[in-house]
Parts: sequence; C-alpha cells; structure tokens
Amino acid sequence: MINNLIGKGKLIKSTDLCIIGAGTVGLFVGSLLAEKGIKVLILESGDMTQDSETHELNKTIYTKNFYHSSNIGRFRCLGGTSTRWGAGMLPFSIKDFENGKWPVTFDEINKYLIKVEKYFDLNSGSYLFKDNLNNINKDFILKYAKLPSFKNRNVYNIFKSTVHENQNIQIWLNSTVTKFDKKLNSLDNIVAEAQDGSSISIKARNFLISAGAIESTRLMLLLDKQNEYCVSKLSPSLGKYFCDHISIPVSDIIPKNISKLNKIFGYHFERNKNMKNIRFEMSENANIRDFIPPFFARIVFADMDGGYENLRNFFRAIQKKKIPTFKDFFGIIKSLPWILNAIRWRFMNKRLLFPQNPALETNIIMEQESLGLNKIFLSSTEKDLYGQPIASIEWSASEKDAKNIFKAADCLKDFWNNSDLNEYGIFKMKSKSEIEKLIKKADGIHHPSGSTRMGNTKEEGVVDKDLNVFSIDNLKILSTSVFPSGGGANPTMTLMMFGLRYVDQFLDN
Ligand SMILES: Cc1cc2nc3c(=O)[nH]c(=O)nc-3n(C[C@H](O)[C@H](O)[C@H](O)COP(=O)(O)OP(=O)(O)OC[C@H]3O[C@@H](n4cnc5c(N)ncnc54)[C@H](O)[C@@H]3O)c2cc1C
Repeated sequence: MINNLIGKGKLIKSTDLCIIGAGTVGLFVGSLLAEKGIKVLILESGDMTQDSETHELNKTIYTKNFYHSSNIGRFRCLGGTSTRWGAGMLPFSIKDFENGKWPVTFDEINKYLIKVEKYFDLNSGSYLFKDNLNNINKDFILKYAKLPSFKNRNVYNIFKSTVHENQNIQIWLNSTVTKFDKKLNSLDNIVAEAQDGSSISIKARNFLISAGAIESTRLMLLLDKQNEYCVSKLSPSLGKYFCDHISIPVSDIIPKNISKLNKIFGYHFERNKNMKNIRFEMSENANIRDFIPPFFARIVFADMDGGYENLRNFFRAIQKKKIPTFKDFFGIIKSLPWILNAIRWRFMNKRLLFPQNPALETNIIMEQESLGLNKIFLSSTEKDLYGQPIASIEWSASEKDAKNIFKAADCLKDFWNNSDLNEYGIFKMKSKSEIEKLIKKADGIHHPSGSTRMGNTKEEGVVDKDLNVFSIDNLKILSTSVFPSGGGANPTMTLMMFGLRYVDQFLDN
C-alpha cells in the first residue's frame, strides 16, 4: 500500500520492521519480507517518480575534488536510483573479498547470485566470455555484465503488485527521516517529515537504513550527533574511508577490423530483452593481483555522435516513463541510415552497432585506495529544508591511485599486444601527461562505498559482518557504504545479494 505523508498532519505508528529508503535495495528487501508475512513500513523521502535530474535534498558540499555523483547520481523516488541506473550486473570475485579483507566470505554472499538473477529475470549462465582469442598472456579474462530488460531495471516494476496489493507493506512517500531517538542500546523512535510540516513518528522492533551510500552515512552521522555521539565514540571509522571507482581513459584503440571489434565489444542482445556487455578483468589467480588493486576495463566510444546518442536519448526518455520529445524523434529521423544498419546488426549479429567512425578508447575502472582522509561529514554551515546539516564530501584520487592506473594500463597493453586483439585494433596508449591530468580531475562514477564499513570489531568498522550497527542493537545498514573496499566490478549485484542474505537472516531470527 502506498501512502503520501503530505497533508496528513502528525502521525504515530508502530511496526515490526521500519526501512528507511524505498530505493533499489530497500524496496527489494521490504517487498520480499512483506511477501513472507512480515509487517514492513518503508519511509521514502521522494515521491512516486523524480522527473528532474537533480533533487534539492541531494545537495552536497565538496571540500576537495568534485564528487558530482552525489548530486546527479542518486534519485529520490519509489525505486530510487534503479529508475535511472545503467543496470550492468555481475558479482565481485573471490579475490575482491579476500584481498579487501571483508569480514564475510565470498561464498556466504555469492550463494544468492542465482536468486538475484531470477528476480531481475536475467538469463542464467556464466559471466565468462568464451572469446576464442588466442592469448599468450593469461593475466586477463573477458567477462560479461548482464543487463536486465529496461522494464526490470526499475525495482518498483518488479514488485509492483506486492507494493500495491500486499497488506503487509506500507510505503510512506514524501517522508524524509530527520530524527533518531535512542533509549539504552536500541533505537526507540524515528521521525520523518514532509514538505508541508506533516510528520510521522515510528516505533519499531527493527530498523534498517537503506538510503543509498551517501545518505545512509549522513543519516548515521545525524543519529550520532543527536544521541551524544554514541556511534562514533565506539566506531571512529564512521564517515571515513569513502571510496568510489576511478574511471580513466588510458588508450585509444585504432581499428584495423572494426566489425570484429564491434562483435566483441558492442552490447550483446540476448533472450528476455536482456543485454550483456564485455569487460576485461584480472584472472582470479593472476600474479598482477599482488601489486594492482581490483579493476576492470571496457572499450567504449569517446564521442556519441553517429546515431548512437539519438537512439540512446530516445530510450532514456522511455526508461524515465516519458514520451520522447520532438527533438528525440527528429534525432531518430536524422540518424535513419545508421539506425537501419543498426537494426540489421541487431538481428544478424545480435550486437548494438557502434556509431559511425567511433573514437574507441580503453577505460580503466579501478578500486580506489581506502583512505581515512576521504570522508563524508556534516556541514557546519549549510542545512537542508528540514533544518538538518547537509553532507560535506572530502574526496580525491591519491598518488597511489594514479600509480596503480599506470601499472594496470601497462599490463593491459601487454595483454592486448599478445593476443588476437592486436589483429583487430592498435592499443595506442595516451600520453602520460594526458592520463595524469585526467586522474587529477577524476570524479565519482556512482559507485560510492566504505563510509559505514563492515569490520570484525567496532574499532575497525561501523557494522559487523551481518550488517548490525555495533553500537545500536536493533539497527542494520544495507547499502554499498558497508563495503570495506570497492572491488573489481559494479557494486549493485553484490548489494542485492547482501539484501537476500538480510532477508534470510531476518526470517531466521
Ligand atoms: C547513472 C548511473 C548508472 C549506474 N550504473 C550502474 C551499473 O551499471 N551497475 C551497477 O552495479 N550499479 C550502477 N549504478 C549504481 C547503482 O544505481 C546503485 O549502486 C544502487 O542503485 C544503490 O541502491 P540503493 O538502494 O543503495 O540506493 P538508492 O536506489 O538511491 O535508494 C535510496 C533511497 O533512499 C531514499 N532516501 C534517501 N534519504 C532518505 C531519508 N532521509 N529518508 C527516507 N528516504 C530516504 C531515496 O529517496 C532513495 O529512494 C549506477 C548509478 C547511476 C546513477
């Protein structure tokens, strides 16, 4: 059942489980638990949809490098950021967990992979691309990210009937959590407010914060401040070790056989309206893992001209459930010859055709060094419309990050030159100064993590391996902010697996 707090005055409610945030993972676990008979109440800051590209409540201050992702990379509405994301889904590797010293094992999480695939209606099967490439150097493998159909990318679409029909779930829109009251070691009561002054006060046996990495951290900092610093006194890492992946173009690819490159690196069309795209990853047992952090690399086109952008804008409008604009339609007509060829490729080769004369590049997307200096903290000057301090982000790439990018680029070049790929295109490294410039002005790429990290002890982390906040008995955090390291893949598949584990543990207890 969906409710709107606006116009409701002052409400008081109680429930078994109160979830903060009906976004990608909050709505996912809330719906699953409601289906299992648990009374779930979800407080969602946004409305049914977010039509604009930014939201007033996501305003952030940057004290070092820009971290634009906090402003343009998160969405306040039912389904949260899943209403806009790229939806490339694949698991982390064992080594990401082991080398990142995660307190939970790969197997404990990865056993949920097939179940997550089923919810998103992803095709089953391996994530390895059987490339038939003749590689002399075995440091790298080619892997797929799986992409669900456009409809299933939005978690709200997957659970629409549960959300509207199941009596166990109550979602309150326009309910921004602003206050936390702790009694003894437990969270007793939280308050959410709406723009018109209405408020809802919730008592629950269990609370879960799933408000996205940046906002989950900010909410923990607010809780901490409002309750005599009960979290940070015990867990000094709160807000610190904030990370993202650093994404840097390191080489141009000069095509020798563009058709072959397109067949390998173009988006693959699959059954069930699924898609796949290809990336390089270090082999599980590659020696280079000993001196380079986890990363993946993709062949992308630097400029989107040549038909592709027009087609993408058209489908983006559809993803946002909007009617494409006149400009979008005009763009499609203008690119008709390319589109007709793309349709032929779609059915003959099952690939998304590259734009005409694409400027191909290799992008390295690398786990950032975990540093206490990179952090989220509460602004001492600026407040949001509910009078609460907004988030400040102090973040940048380090010198070590820069060195790691260069090492990775060298290894990748060596791999390329010693495989059949060299027959299809030339790996032309960009100049050192160009790469250095790009690293200096690196920005986030929507994979924030680390700032409420998991740890074996309260001194080390904010939550334990089962996501329990060390200092508060009935509170858990489910967000990529608990990841102690960034890993070598996009984070959301792993987040959803943590979500399913949370559901199992909740039902067991
Ligand atoms: C353009 C883009 C492309 C991406 N592509 C990929 C990709 O290809 N693969 C991948 O793995 N990941 C990708 N990501 C990242 C992915 O979208 C996120 O990891 C994921 O959506 C995070 O889910 P979440 O539930 O933690 O946060 P969200 O989905 O953002 O949900 C948080 C929810 O909490 C609500 N909320 C916030 N504050 C409050 C409050 N105070 N009170 C109540 N509610 C609150 C918000 O309104 C929101 O609905 C991409 C992100 C972007 C922006």
